[in-house]
Amino acid sequence: MAEKILIVEDEAKIARFIELELAHEGYETDKAEDGRKGLELAESGVYDLVLLDIMLPGLNGLEVLRRLRRTSDVPVIVLTARDAVMDKVSGLDMGADDYVTKPFAIEELLARIRLALRRRGSRKAAEDVLTCGELTLSVPRHEVKFGGEEIGLTSREFSLLQTLLENKNVVLSRDSLLEKVWGYDYMGETNVVDVYVRYLRNKIDNVYGQNLIQTVRGVGYVIRDEHE
Ligand code: CA
Repeated sequence: MAEKILIVEDEAKIARFIELELAHEGYETDKAEDGRKGLELAESGVYDLVLLDIMLPGLNGLEVLRRLRRTSDVPVIVLTARDAVMDKVSGLDMGADDYVTKPFAIEELLARIRLALRRRGSRKAAEDVLTCGELTLSVPRHEVKFGGEEIGLTSREFSLLQTLLENKNVVLSRDSLLEKVWGYDYMGETNVVDVYVRYLRNKIDNVYGQNLIQTVRGVGYVIRDEHE
């Protein structure tokens, strides 16, 4: 799927030039010609990266960035005028990922874009791995390991463990585990949670001499990292 880039730039010629170059590189693009429109689009969450000019009508680029960062960590590259040192510093302070000074060579801009997208990609991959001590669960790989050794789980065991890990150190009631793992419409016995917790303990805690999945009497279960 093509990565989507938002171009917030009021100078039509520059915006058009960037748009054509990005299209040529296989990116999808949208354009906004003023700060307000740019902020509105950037906040939509559909973009993989935002190119943000600083000198913009309506709302300037730094103000767009400041507001955007309240809700979004989308990579932002600011476009600043040459020698506008304050703009670069403020932009980075406000959470820009990088800056490019105008006039820029398109190759430099493309390189910065690739770099920002790559950094974002590795950040996301790291977020997709849940851990508790030596136990790791990779969501995209659907893989569970303890100390690097792979553990085979059924899909229900996997989603129970994933739910516990997503709520690490937080006690979950049987009811909330049922709802999260088996769904609202589950009609069977509530002790299915206890049964599956036992399966997980048999495959993890009992094999590796751990006490990760703990019972909180009268409440439910928690996965605990004793080192945190
Ligand atoms: Ca401008």
